[in-house]
Amino acid sequence: MGNVLIVGAGGVGCVVAHKCAQVPEVFEQITLASRTVSKCDEIAASVKEKTGRTIDTAAVDADNVPEMVALIKKVKPDLVLNVALPYQDLPIMDACLEAGVDYLDTANYEPRDEAKFEYKWQWAYQDRFKDAGLCALLGSGFDPGVTNVFCAYAQKELFDEIHYIDILDCNAGDHGHPFATNFNPEINIREITQKGKYWEDGNWVEIEPMSQTWDFDYPEVGIRKSFLLYHEEEESLVQNIKGLKRIRFWMTFGEEYLTHLRVMQNIGITRIDPVDYNGTPVVPIELLKRLLPDPASLAKGYTGKTSIGTLIEGVKDGKPKKVFIYNCCDHAECYKEVGAQAVSYTTGVPAMIGAMMLMTGKWRKPGVWNMEQNDPTPFMEKLNIHGLPWHIKEL
Ligand code: NDP
Repeated sequence: MGNVLIVGAGGVGCVVAHKCAQVPEVFEQITLASRTVSKCDEIAASVKEKTGRTIDTAAVDADNVPEMVALIKKVKPDLVLNVALPYQDLPIMDACLEAGVDYLDTANYEPRDEAKFEYKWQWAYQDRFKDAGLCALLGSGFDPGVTNVFCAYAQKELFDEIHYIDILDCNAGDHGHPFATNFNPEINIREITQKGKYWEDGNWVEIEPMSQTWDFDYPEVGIRKSFLLYHEEEESLVQNIKGLKRIRFWMTFGEEYLTHLRVMQNIGITRIDPVDYNGTPVVPIELLKRLLPDPASLAKGYTGKTSIGTLIEGVKDGKPKKVFIYNCCDHAECYKEVGAQAVSYTTGVPAMIGAMMLMTGKWRKPGVWNMEQNDPTPFMEKLNIHGLPWHIKEL
């Protein structure tokens, strides 16, 4: 039925390639392209071994729009599935417009020189995609992604009005390293060292980083200290969930992780501005990324589970109601299935399902869309089938 071009061959790209290959009736032809083609070839060999399918590979610098356009024209995909880094979002969207294909990503754009992620840059493409009759689906990972779909499902099926949303993200896994990040270290560290922020009664409230905590009881994991962070799905959900009074985002971190982070910040190795080293400009966080374990390499031997969900409070039939909609995912099971850890898996599966929603026409409409602006039902059905079953706990 369709032809997909995946860009990015990290932990998430590995999962997306395997999961697309598992659904040949939708993804008839698959090409995996990235900056380092040897990583694409390694993934293609694993896909062949696990599914028997052959996928094509290619080298591309996705920051270079003409290079991307040439690749798209050669591959002729129905969709470009971007799982490179957030810096590549805008050049890949430009290339999709020029070559006339749909677009999907899992993380919103951020400029290299400022640790600030916002949808404004990508929402500005709305008219260009609409006028070209093309579709761009933003944030089709787990959070953002599945968490947005959980909110849309709650709005459609479970509540008359939603008042409070808390998104809670716990990784209770153990990868055996003293310090490592579960997705791209540069993007991850930029995200969590920002000021915390949440939305209440129409206003954004800013707090010092990691200054608010909550001991939340996560299904299949237990009580874990969670820290309030700003996360990108809050920006679109405040616009799309009617009657909302407050939305917050929480993530768990262990003491060991926080101590390493504090030391790295104190010595300046998380800085994103270039420093002069013997006449060579060096960006400390880029150097740090080189030194830390590659997130994809954590998968072997990773134990434990992720437990991520959306706690929603509101009103149904005139009565107060509170539910937790969640998924738990086991690192070792993910490794067995696709050779990846659960953080990559929980991002890559929804990226594949989002692509399926566009390529089968269920969610395809001209313009630029966030996940919750689509019918959640077919997406929720596919989560159960493709490895991320969800549950609802009435509280
Ligand atoms: P990795 O760092 O493991 O992989 C990124 C890949 O992109 C690498 O293969 C890298 O190539 C490639 N790449 C980087 N720059 C370019 C470029 N200019 N042209 C072509 N390819 C490029 O990251 P992850 O796989 O962990 O994460 C991928 C994306 O998923 C990120 O945007 C991340 O923010 C997002 N994410 C979203 C989540 C969600 O729930 N929504 C959760 C986790 C991640 P090279 O190997 O040469 O460096």
